[in-house]
Amino acid sequence: MEQLYFTEEHKMLRDMVRDFARNEVKPLTQELDEKGGFPHESVKKMAELGLMGIPWDEKYGGTGMDTMALVIAIEEIGKVCPSTSATMMAHTSLGTAPIAVFGTEEQKERYLPGLASGKQIGAFGLTEPNAGSDAGNTQTRAILNGNEFIVNGEKAFCTNAGEASIIIFTAVMVENGEEKGISAFVIDADTEGLFLNPPEKKMGWCGSDTRSVFFRDMRIPKSSVLGKPSKGFKQFLKTLTGGRITIGALGIGTAQGAFARALAYSKEREAFGKPIHKFQGVSFKLSDMATQIEAARHLVYHAAWKKDQGLSVIREAAMAKLFSSETAMMVTTEAIQVLGGYGYIKEYNVERFFRDAKILEIGEGTSEVQRMIIARELINSVQSV
Ligand SMILES: Cc1cc2nc3c(=O)[nH]c(=O)nc-3n(C[C@H](O)[C@H](O)[C@H](O)COP(=O)(O)OP(=O)(O)OC[C@H]3O[C@@H](n4cnc5c(N)ncnc54)[C@H](O)[C@@H]3O)c2cc1C
Repeated sequence: MEQLYFTEEHKMLRDMVRDFARNEVKPLTQELDEKGGFPHESVKKMAELGLMGIPWDEKYGGTGMDTMALVIAIEEIGKVCPSTSATMMAHTSLGTAPIAVFGTEEQKERYLPGLASGKQIGAFGLTEPNAGSDAGNTQTRAILNGNEFIVNGEKAFCTNAGEASIIIFTAVMVENGEEKGISAFVIDADTEGLFLNPPEKKMGWCGSDTRSVFFRDMRIPKSSVLGKPSKGFKQFLKTLTGGRITIGALGIGTAQGAFARALAYSKEREAFGKPIHKFQGVSFKLSDMATQIEAARHLVYHAAWKKDQGLSVIREAAMAKLFSSETAMMVTTEAIQVLGGYGYIKEYNVERFFRDAKILEIGEGTSEVQRMIIARELINSVQSV
């Protein structure tokens, strides 16, 4: 697969990130998962390595690489610590991408250097308490009042919000009492009228920051509209399409992390006088796990490659996200089974991958939403029989 998709630059990046993940991220994972919070130390190092701005133009402080490179880095870090990978992923594909893709030149110059270099962290608030899958039902209102907006509303489950310097959010724009559709806005996180709730206590991704953000009569200048006004709905659909490829990459990493441990264990653990991989019941599980991971990798790499060619990837990104996240759930479940009782024990470092896998079937569009997108794309496409 590498021969098909990776350039020499991609392979060098892969080797560099793999070493970094094994040597610098891995020793911190257990404590990070137990204590919870934010992977400060790893984020600082990822910033130094240029991993917080992989796909952005060097002109704005990015690494100047592509989606495939981002996928490679997310997968490699995800193999050891999905929380750390999720932090970098959300910062890049949600907290920075909307500015890089839709921002005005002024907004790019103002925000991208800090975000792409990792000196500043970005977050993206789309989901609301009553608008998740149905994100078009956004209740947050930005009322135009002279040269500023007055914003009221709440955003739920905002990854990185507690550490972010810059927050992008969506709201219905209201002008002269008339609703003008959803716009995206970009603001500094210390804006008066913006409040953060305490971090959520989560099942997985425990070493990442998730919390709700709310706005109370928050006054922001008209220039806070990200790109063109009233285009927020289309913008977030496009942002999520790109984000789905990166969730797919994290699915591969999460699955591979658990699989590698299960494979190694199956060679060490003996029962009935032989290593357990000699039992067909175990070896067939390993075969199925490896096959699913390989198939997920094909879908994710193909979607990344297509995106890098500038082609539409709505269907491919949804398929990659759906298959890879369900693969992560299946593989991490089976990995625990291969380890038997030890799989259930934290010290064996497999149950963490299982807890980290579940969110992949929910965030950036649930599996049901992915199936809706794929079905819509199939029905709308003209296919010869
Ligand atoms: C750890 C974590 C991090 C997150 N990070 C972010 C972030 O950074 N930014 C952000 O904006 N959001 C974030 N989210 C929110 C996430 O994207 C939403 O939780 C997700 O989109 C689902 O929305 P919901 O929770 O409101 O579920 P709902 O939309 O209420 O869905 C509930 C159930 O109903 C199903 N359902 C809903 N509609 C349909 C339908 N039409 N057909 C079939 N089934 C349907 C869903 O699939 C699901 O099973 C995060 C969530 C978590 C848990």
